[in-house]
Amino acid sequence: MPTPIIVAKIEILKRYKPIAPNTHKGIQGHALLIGGSYGKIGAMVLGSKAALKTGCGLVTVFVPKCGYEILQTTNPEVMVLTDVQEKYISKIEYDFTPKAIGIGSGMGQEIITQNALHAFLIANEIPLVIDADALNILSQNKGWISILPTKTIFTPHPKELERLIGKWNSNREKFEKTIAFSKLHQLIIVMKDAPTFIINGDTIYENTTGNAALATAGTGDVLTGMITSLLAQSYEPIDAAILGVYLHGLTADIALPETGYQSFIASDVISNIGKAYL
Ligand code: AMP
Ligand code: MG
Repeated sequence: MPTPIIVAKIEILKRYKPIAPNTHKGIQGHALLIGGSYGKIGAMVLGSKAALKTGCGLVTVFVPKCGYEILQTTNPEVMVLTDVQEKYISKIEYDFTPKAIGIGSGMGQEIITQNALHAFLIANEIPLVIDADALNILSQNKGWISILPTKTIFTPHPKELERLIGKWNSNREKFEKTIAFSKLHQLIIVMKDAPTFIINGDTIYENTTGNAALATAGTGDVLTGMITSLLAQSYEPIDAAILGVYLHGLTADIALPETGYQSFIASDVISNIGKAYL
């Protein structure tokens, strides 16, 4: 197994691009986040806010109709497009060209949503982050993985990873299977765990930030928003994954003295992204 490259601050500074003084929102990148379902719109509230806080210029979300007022009320900076269906995504349509798309958070796995995901993937050529239920749907439809743009970023937690690559009997086997999967499909796999590893073919990166405070609802949805935001800012997919995971973990390290492990929540990741950048 290849030796992991340790991602500490020096590795981050090599990849980090400061914001140009004369930039404007149009060139800071437009991220599109697709997901949410009845009772799980919060995933999109968190992800879209995290995307803006990570620096892209514009964020649009695509949600089922039931998410419209929730998003417009909670996140006034975010633009909202809705599906024709009330509770679940059934047909993904938008009238602009985003720089990056994140899909899957809180989306559910209804048949209509599976069909919508398939049609979307066939038509899409834009850099992608795939999370949560979109990963679960792909686990059941592995043939669809071949239509993804190369260097699409997958962000599975351990259970989602198992659904994608099958069970493993040892840590070594987990890495071997993930590397083989990454190479076969030319994907970047963010193996979310403690710590998180990022697999890019034969290259393994080991993140050094984060702590058990992150073991709480919604932190994964926030990470998807952050990585999609970085992709929208024209970071290479591998750099977006590495930088996103590092900043995400760092927010929990920064907040820990104030929140302790128990009272840290996903919104605390979002409110500490600014400090993580300093
Ligand atoms: P999800 O399960 O999709 O909500 O994602 C959870 C996020 O929190 C991932 O980024 C994990 O790496 C992170 N996380 C969860 N538990 C821990 C832990 N004990 N230590 C560090 N990071 C964690
Ligand atoms: Mg998740």
